[in-house]
Amino acid sequence: MSDCIFCKIAAGEIPATVVYQDEEMLVFEDISPKAPLHLLLIPKQHMATLNEAGPEQAQLLGRLILKAGELAEEKGVSQGGYRVQINCNPDGGQVVFHLHVHLMGGRKLECLT
Ligand code: 5GP
Ligand code: ZN
Repeated sequence: MSDCIFCKIAAGEIPATVVYQDEEMLVFEDISPKAPLHLLLIPKQHMATLNEAGPEQAQLLGRLILKAGELAEEKGVSQGGYRVQINCNPDGGQVVFHLHVHLMGGRKLECLT
């Protein structure tokens, strides 16, 4: 996706502070952090929203969530607590249409539920 900002980050065309990557995922710092720790975990392959994911993506989605938990531990927020969140489409608060998982922690987060 040539006009997708997260594809450009994954391709190294736009700079980001990368904290982890492998063949299928990239993790980088959110440019406008909503918490002391705010990372974005993305699949390198473009997928606009969670609606586009199917059973073929089950392993990748599982890996993204497990990696969020690992990074929470590594960054020292796992005991205090953290949030792992996927926003889908405008009503879900999605602004960037490349599937991403938010990892936020390091402060008490307000709850919607
Ligand atoms: P959404 O609301 O789509 O779930 O979240 C998009 C997130 O991407 C926001 O938290 C926003 O701050 C972050 N973001 C938007 N553009 C950029 C960018 O160019 N670089 C980085 N690192 N984060 C971005
Ligand atoms: Zn993309």
